[in-house]
Amino acid sequence: MSVVVGIDLGGTGLRAGLVAPDGKMSSTRSFEHGGLRNPVDAIEAIVRAVEAVACGVKVDAVGIGVAAWVEKATGFVARAPNLGWVDVPFGELLERRLGVPVVVHNDLKAIAWGEYRFGAGVGADTLLVVFLGTGVGSAIVAGSTLWTGARGFGGEIGHVKSGPDDGPLCGCGRRGCLEAYVGGGALARRAAELRAKGRLKSITGAGDVTALDLERAAMHGDPDARVLLEQGGDLLGRSLGAVINVLNPDVLLLGGGVWFASQYVRDAVREGIDYASHPFLRKSVRIVESALGPTAGVAGAADLARRKVAAP
Ligand SMILES: [Zn+2]
Repeated sequence: MSVVVGIDLGGTGLRAGLVAPDGKMSSTRSFEHGGLRNPVDAIEAIVRAVEAVACGVKVDAVGIGVAAWVEKATGFVARAPNLGWVDVPFGELLERRLGVPVVVHNDLKAIAWGEYRFGAGVGADTLLVVFLGTGVGSAIVAGSTLWTGARGFGGEIGHVKSGPDDGPLCGCGRRGCLEAYVGGGALARRAAELRAKGRLKSITGAGDVTALDLERAAMHGDPDARVLLEQGGDLLGRSLGAVINVLNPDVLLLGGGVWFASQYVRDAVREGIDYASHPFLRKSVRIVESALGPTAGVAGAADLARRKVAAP
């Protein structure tokens, strides 16, 4: 039996686990890295995490999900807006440093595969997974296959243009992306702009405003907080309605920190889906929440690596 480590490398944190074929983890580590803007630092952090969870056992393969546009087959990172990387041969560098086979995917693809294999997506025919975390990530598993598109960038809705040309700035450099309205980072930026104008007065204290801060403020009657959450949720819901019409999924799986923090977001997303999807297709999709939570990406990345190593 192969010994496989899974890694989930996000914009601000890293999680690692030694993952068994049934998805169970015998050893895990997670820490906030605060932004690994130099890929060499990321590689060294991953090497330390692999050593920590392996506890002296020889590792056969490492699977990684990274918040980035990742080319399939090569693990080449074309762009990672939240890490600040452009054109990094990440898979190749990491494989050379670790000396074992390395499989790199976009983080949401690893999460979607983890939920499909071991979580709330088990048994789905066509699974659409959307996580609201720092950004908006999504991926598709259809017919038992992780859908990648031609280069590996398929399945993403976060950078669909949902607002005008002078809309909020996205981490990708464009304006008006969906992620610029409803991701945790976008909510914090938009809240900071309002606070600079003397609004959102019920939120006190320094530091970034979180979705939970906004949720509490909205519950206490702050109209600005409510508008931010509901506008973001509505835009996401309408986009998902369009995807449902195109894809005809039987399961839509939602999760991530912002999703679980805000009832206003959850309600607006559901209403947006009901508005934008055709009732005929809406009826055939079951909406579920993430079962594995933050460990989905670790389990999925490890399973994708195990399959690659085992493939003839
Ligand atoms: Zn964008």
